[in-house]
Amino acid sequence: MARKYLIETFGCQMNVHDSERMAGLLEQAGFESTDDAGDADVVVINTCSVRERAEGQLYTRLGELRQLAKDGGRRPIVAVAGCVAQQEGETILRRAPGVTDVIVGTQAIRRLPVLIEQAEAQAAPAIDLNPYDDVTWPLGVTRRDDPVKGYVTIIEGCNEFCSFCVVPYTRGHERMRPRTDILAEVRELAATGRKEVQLLGQIVNHYEAPDEPSCDFTGLLEAIHDVDGIERIRFASPHPRHFDDRFLAAMARLPKICRHLHLPVQSGSTRVLQAMRRRYTRESYLDLVARIRASLPEVALSTDMIVGFPGETDEDFGETLSLTDAVGYHSMFSFKYSPRPNTLAEKRLADDVSEEEKTRRIVALQARQRDVQMRLNARLVGRTVDVLVDAASRRRETELSGRTTQNVVVNLPGPNAWIGRTLRVRVERAGPHSVWGRSTAVFDSEAAAPRL
Ligand code: SF4
Repeated sequence: MARKYLIETFGCQMNVHDSERMAGLLEQAGFESTDDAGDADVVVINTCSVRERAEGQLYTRLGELRQLAKDGGRRPIVAVAGCVAQQEGETILRRAPGVTDVIVGTQAIRRLPVLIEQAEAQAAPAIDLNPYDDVTWPLGVTRRDDPVKGYVTIIEGCNEFCSFCVVPYTRGHERMRPRTDILAEVRELAATGRKEVQLLGQIVNHYEAPDEPSCDFTGLLEAIHDVDGIERIRFASPHPRHFDDRFLAAMARLPKICRHLHLPVQSGSTRVLQAMRRRYTRESYLDLVARIRASLPEVALSTDMIVGFPGETDEDFGETLSLTDAVGYHSMFSFKYSPRPNTLAEKRLADDVSEEEKTRRIVALQARQRDVQMRLNARLVGRTVDVLVDAASRRRETELSGRTTQNVVVNLPGPNAWIGRTLRVRVERAGPHSVWGRSTAVFDSEAAAPRL
C-alpha cells in the first residue's frame, strides 16, 4: 500500500506554489495524498514568517502533532518547510523537541524526498538550509489541483531589503528563472486546459531573462501572450519603483493581461516610507497611479498596507487613510506591524506604537477600505462583465464563482460544467468583497454549455 502525505500551507501564493511542487515530488517518490494527519506517514508544514502570528501557528501545530502521537495515534515523519524553517533552523528542534524529523529551507525543497529518506535511515533529524542558485524546475512534476489557473514562478528571492521585511533573509537574493523554463511551463498549463497563468515573484517587474539578455518583464509578458490556449495573465507583485512606459503600453496593447495591478504601498506617509526603505514617496506613488490610470483607465488597483510601523504618528496614519481614499483600491491586505527577526527595523527601530493603538488603526483602516470597496463594487450593478468561472462557490452548492479581469469576485448560479469558461454576467447585487449576478447566455439545458 502506498504511503501517504499531507501538506499544510501557511502564507502567500509563493508558499502555495511551493506546496504544489513538494506534493509533486512526493508523488513521484510514490506517496499518495491524504487530508487526515492521523492517516499520514509524512506531514509537511509549509510555514510563513512574514507576520509574527503566522510563525506562532507552526509551534501550535507541532504541539498538536505531538499530542496526536501521545494519544496513541500514528507518529508521522514531520517536515518543516518554508520561511520559518529557513529562519529558525535547528531552533525548531529545541523549541518543540521530539516532533520534527526534517527541516527543509526555502531553496532546498527539491531535496525533500531525499531528506525524508535520510531522516528515516539515520533516525535523527535531516536538515538542509543551504542556498541553491538553480531556480529551474522540471516540467510535469508540480501537482496542480486547480483546473483553471496555474502559478508559474519567474523570480525567487529579493534584493530590496525593505526595513520591515524578512523575505531577503528567508528566500535569499534575487534569482531569475530562465525564459525557456517559464515558457515551457506556461505551454504545459495551456496543454492541460488551464486558461489563466499567474506569474509569481517578489518583484516581477524586475525580471530579466538570464538566458536571453534582451528579454525583460515586458518581453516575457509578450511571449506568454502568444501562447495559444492561455486567456488571462496575472502577476504578483510589481514594485512601484520599477514601472516603465513600455510596460504600461504593453499592458494596454495586450488584451490577455488582466486589468489589475497589485501595487504594494505599505504606508501613505513619506516619512514612514523612508523609514521602511521603500525608496519612493507618497507623491511619486500617487504620480505613478495617475500615469497608470492615464494609460489604463479601467485598471483596478490593490495594495498591501502596514499600520503601527515604528515612529508612525497619528498624522502619518492620517496620511495612510487619505491615500486609501485618494487611490480607491479594489482590495487591500492590511497588517499590524510586528518586528521580524534580522530585519533592519527589528535591529534599529523601537516598536513604539502600542498594541492597542495598532488595533485602533487597523480597525479604522479596514472600515475605510470596506467603504471604498463597497462603493466600487456597487458601480458594477446593472453592468455586464466577462467572468472566468474558476470554482464552485464555497457558500452554496448551486453557486459558482469567478473573477473579472479586474479581479472582482463574481458569484453566479450555474452548473459545475461551466468551470473554466468565460461567461458574460449581468451584475445584480454588490457586497464589499464580491458581487452577485447571472449569466446572460441562453442555455440549451441546465448542464449544457451556454450559447454565447
Ligand atoms: S520588495 Fe521589500 S517588501 Fe517586497 S519582498 Fe522585497 S524586501 Fe520584502
